[in-house]
Amino acid sequence: MNNDDIIRRDLAVLWHPCTQMKDHETLPLIPIARGEGAWLTDFKGRRYLDAISSWWVNLFGHANPHINRRLREQLDSLEHVILAGFTHEPVVRLSEKLVEITPPGLERCFYADNGSSAVEVALKMSFHYWRNRGQRRKTRFITLASSYHGETLGALSVGDVPLYRETYEPLLLRPLIAPSPDCFHRAAGEDWHDYSIRQFAAMEALLERHHQETCAVIVEPLVQCAGGMRMHHPVYLEKLRAACDRYGVHLIADEIAVGFGRTGTMFACEQAQISPDFLCLSKGLTGGYLPLSVVLTTNEVYDAFYDDYGKLNAFLHSHSYTGNALACTAALATLELFEQRDAINANRALAGRMRAATAHLADHPHVAEVRQQGMILAIEMARDRSTREPYDWRERRGLRVYRHALSRGALLRPLGNVVYFMPPYVVTPEEIDFLAEVATEGIDIATGES
Ligand code: PMP
Repeated sequence: MNNDDIIRRDLAVLWHPCTQMKDHETLPLIPIARGEGAWLTDFKGRRYLDAISSWWVNLFGHANPHINRRLREQLDSLEHVILAGFTHEPVVRLSEKLVEITPPGLERCFYADNGSSAVEVALKMSFHYWRNRGQRRKTRFITLASSYHGETLGALSVGDVPLYRETYEPLLLRPLIAPSPDCFHRAAGEDWHDYSIRQFAAMEALLERHHQETCAVIVEPLVQCAGGMRMHHPVYLEKLRAACDRYGVHLIADEIAVGFGRTGTMFACEQAQISPDFLCLSKGLTGGYLPLSVVLTTNEVYDAFYDDYGKLNAFLHSHSYTGNALACTAALATLELFEQRDAINANRALAGRMRAATAHLADHPHVAEVRQQGMILAIEMARDRSTREPYDWRERRGLRVYRHALSRGALLRPLGNVVYFMPPYVVTPEEIDFLAEVATEGIDIATGES
């Protein structure tokens, strides 16, 4: 197998996700033969540093020896079994562990096999809870502007990425949309805390007006990732939790992207010391190995479905691969690595290195902001740094950074004008310096011409 061969065969039969396939007339596909740690290697031996953890999933590196060992052991006993009526050890152990490490009050695990499906589960479960409790008026959801919760129709409905919403509008549910607490838009001199509180007023007003018809508020705690790595202060979550309680509305925390240490704590909700009614997890759950997702909820929610069969109150949802034994094994091995490596503490030094290595970019004439939450660092390019006027999306400035990074052996995949690092936790301080150097060059090239 060589690079050209696999590219030709791929383009003859595949349709890639999130891709205008015509781009590949000029933008080469990158075939990957092997992964090791934070690095990916093509068929010619060319290496790329995976600065985005392969779409934010990988935590402890590719081909991690510990996860590999655990998976090989599991392969010899059980690969998969139906989870309705049957169970197995990896799913029981994983559920016990998740109940132990997630915020207090989350006692039940319901599995699916990707992030979007977990969001569907949470939305349906919240709606169905209220229905089982006799509150049939509750049929709507509140979401934040610029949020992203996945691609299936329910998850897409509670997202607010303009292109997606406009395109699929006729197919979607109609959520109520509150302004985002995104601190990029704070006033000059205003801090994150005050801006997040200021933005909460609109959410409070929406809850006050619509709580009787609202099942739940769904949020991406601390970082709206797909929306451009936009960040807010934990005080917003604190206020939201209290308001949801006051108005009798559920809180769904979508930690699919930010869970498992990305924001500096194991779960982002910890920074606000809150427990949601539903916690959606996926991506890092299996260390980036296998598709798996889970929704954790409270016994209060569980009890609303627990009844005699004839009452028809059971939750109506299943996927064939729910609770797959290999995926659960990868998840358990990943959680073992968190303990063995004391990863959350160890990441503090890496996060500090990311901050130091990119500090100079804060003064760049075409950088509007360098922001960070733990292991997520974002650099926002802008046409005019002082007014924060963005580059027109048609100019595809981020793509120029992407191309440059590939030529230097790094995988950076900007979101529009936002260049970001979300590396696996096995990245070294020197590799972070390398990424910062490549990003700086890429930003210089991308913003150098008008
Ligand atoms: N929620 C959030 C916050 C996400 O970032 C994503 C994926 N980027 C999803 C949901 C959807 O997950 P999946 O791609 O596994 O369907």
